[in-house]
Amino acid sequence: MRSYIIAGNWKMNKTVAESVALAEEIVAKTKGISKTEVVIAPTYLAAAKVADVVKGSNVKLAVQDIHWQDQGAYTGKVSIDMAKEIGVEYVIIGHSEQRQYFHETDETVNLKAKKVLSAGLKPIICIGETLDERNGGKLESVLTAQVKGAYKDISAEDALKTVIAYEPVWAIGTGVVATDDQAQEAQKYVRSLVAQLYGESVAEALRIQYGGSMNPTNASGLLAQKDIDGGLIGGAALKSDSFFSIISAAEEK
Ligand code: PEP
Repeated sequence: MRSYIIAGNWKMNKTVAESVALAEEIVAKTKGISKTEVVIAPTYLAAAKVADVVKGSNVKLAVQDIHWQDQGAYTGKVSIDMAKEIGVEYVIIGHSEQRQYFHETDETVNLKAKKVLSAGLKPIICIGETLDERNGGKLESVLTAQVKGAYKDISAEDALKTVIAYEPVWAIGTGVVATDDQAQEAQKYVRSLVAQLYGESVAEALRIQYGGSMNPTNASGLLAQKDIDGGLIGGAALKSDSFFSIISAAEEK
């Protein structure tokens, strides 16, 4: 049985002080959560302070990206060892904003996934189609390329440590959420791709989140779908009340 994983992607929001305050609220609210894995991804700048807040709590720490090199002349980047040192457990990679604005490709997603796994951390691998791709009948071919690209040369044992976030680009930050059926259909297909690569038992165990305008109103319906094992949440993760409502929706399943 797969457990739910609800992750908040704070993107480029919240000062360090605001991040600490939000993390403190989430830690307090999630004290009674026992079945659902809760993850928050503040900015790099806030991550070390937030790490102190979540230590010993039900909340796990993520960062929003990582470089695949160990160190060196990569201005603006952060390495996996730096993240690991402060207690990061998950790393979001391949987010559509990274793909759209910062030249992320399936190749760099794969390099980052391998780096995260080699350090014993867990990648949350984001995939998803644009509206043009969906309308042009390319949903399956886009997801196939993204999944096959991300998992190139990754063993089944390592694949089991990963999480996939299916995030239709047209639903991210737009308020236009995929219907329960649209999300389920796409995620079922993603799971079938994992089965092609690694077999049924890995596909059944690997968790696939939905992301894209998930909020307290639509979370329960989405989370009830067979192939939806949680959410990657942007806007609704920036307030502890709405984030906790989504966590509660998962916990109650
Ligand atoms: C995201 O950033 O991954 C996301 C899903 O954002 P939002 O919930 O705001 O659509």
